[in-house]
Amino acid sequence: MHQHYRTKGIVLLKKDSGEADQIFVLYTQDFGRIEVVGKAIRKITSKLKSNIDVFYFIEVEFIQGKSKKILTDAVVIDKFLSLRKNFKKLVCVSQIAKAVSALANKEQIDGNVWELLLKTFKAIENLVIENSLEILKHYFLWNFFSLLGYSPELFVCSVCSQKLLPQTFFLSPHHGGVVCWECCNKMQKQNQQFIFSEISVNAVKLVRFLINQPIEMSQRLSFCGNDLHELTRVSDAYFNFLIGG
Ligand SMILES: [Zn+2]
Repeated sequence: MHQHYRTKGIVLLKKDSGEADQIFVLYTQDFGRIEVVGKAIRKITSKLKSNIDVFYFIEVEFIQGKSKKILTDAVVIDKFLSLRKNFKKLVCVSQIAKAVSALANKEQIDGNVWELLLKTFKAIENLVIENSLEILKHYFLWNFFSLLGYSPELFVCSVCSQKLLPQTFFLSPHHGGVVCWECCNKMQKQNQQFIFSEISVNAVKLVRFLINQPIEMSQRLSFCGNDLHELTRVSDAYFNFLIGG
């Protein structure tokens, strides 16, 4: 007799497998990131089919097979219907799902990541003013990086440890945060091939704010298009570095 495991989770990805199976990647409350196989779930007769899909918040039940977890039950808690009907929201949660799938360790429980993921999905679902959508994504990403132990150094230079003065900064994922103009210059003269993204004082302030404030506050932030553009560039650079790209 197999033991049945039950937990809550958000479906991050699904992919077809074999003739009628599907593999689901979920981030769960009690098991962290897991993969479960929905046996014959693509058949019309499958009862579970309508209860599990990408970006559903579900209660999931599975058994541990020889090498894979097999889905035995799924109950919908929230389909996030507003999010599903909005293309921009979908793009945003897809990026979040991609980050979690790529960076969260398999089957490592982290209650803080679970809470962050769930509250971000709920905030995106309930969001009325789309201006805050990108900020919510960055809120998730920077807090997620921090929870994984990759919190960027944003107050002193990551190389010389001098307090950062309000001037041009560079973000170096390799050094784990912001690098001052002088250190960056020195390293470039020595032909050290690190990736440096120029980052404005405002963008650094935004990241500091996002990491330290509750999610509700992030929606009250005022920023200009340029700051957001820069935030996207540095978030991407940091993420690509972390996944080894
Ligand atoms: Zn420095």
